[in-house]
Amino acid sequence: MAGPCAIESAGQIQRAAEVVKAAGANMLRGGAFKPRTSPYSFQGMEHDGLLLLEQAGRDVGLPVVTEVMDPHDIERIAEHADMLQVGARNAQNFSLLRRLGKVNKPILLKRGMSTKLDEFLMAAEYILSGGNTKVVLCERGIRTFETATRNTLDLNAIPLLKDWTHLPIIVDPSHGTGTESLVIPMALAAIAAGADGVMIEVHPEPEKALSDGPQQLRPARFAELMRALRRVAQAVDRTV
Ligand code: PEP
Ligand code: MN
Repeated sequence: MAGPCAIESAGQIQRAAEVVKAAGANMLRGGAFKPRTSPYSFQGMEHDGLLLLEQAGRDVGLPVVTEVMDPHDIERIAEHADMLQVGARNAQNFSLLRRLGKVNKPILLKRGMSTKLDEFLMAAEYILSGGNTKVVLCERGIRTFETATRNTLDLNAIPLLKDWTHLPIIVDPSHGTGTESLVIPMALAAIAAGADGVMIEVHPEPEKALSDGPQQLRPARFAELMRALRRVAQAVDRTV
């Protein structure tokens, strides 16, 4: 899964869709409702962004995934997105999770920044127990004492969760590191450790991004990652 942190304009999401599709991504991501630390930061294009994402995905032939923050938006987002994402900040928002248990769309559930793995699985259980069995887990880094990176990507989580649950587990090294130069090595490590996929932030012009510029890959770097991913996957008897 790849695409920008946030949908910023029709041109930006179209270009992002084209480059990630060309490099071999299977799904287009983009945030329309953004959970920003500051209420004064860009909050996303909301419903307008959702429609732009849907159109861009259709144009290049990729399903789309986007975040839902508010239970009131679930129905509308589910009409336009193929998969609904629960962000780290809502990983234990049980009323949101319960409502997603009644939705007929797959859910990408991100680990909270201070969620233990047993709590992460119980968060998934809130969705599963409602009847929605299509849940994909996403390790996206946790808070530790280390401040050299935005988060500490917990690669231990991959083999542990593989042992504990049948649910697919993917890794987001973009938020897990916060640093462009670390995204490729950690994505490769995630696949080597058994992850079922990766979610990568890709922006046509990261220096102009309205959110998360320092961690977004430019198109050529994403293509480089995809080439390397194929080699690592092959080494561990997997395919991309
Ligand atoms: C995102 O993937 O857009 C995002 C906000 O990530 P997280 O919830 O992991 O911080
Ligand atoms: Mn982001």
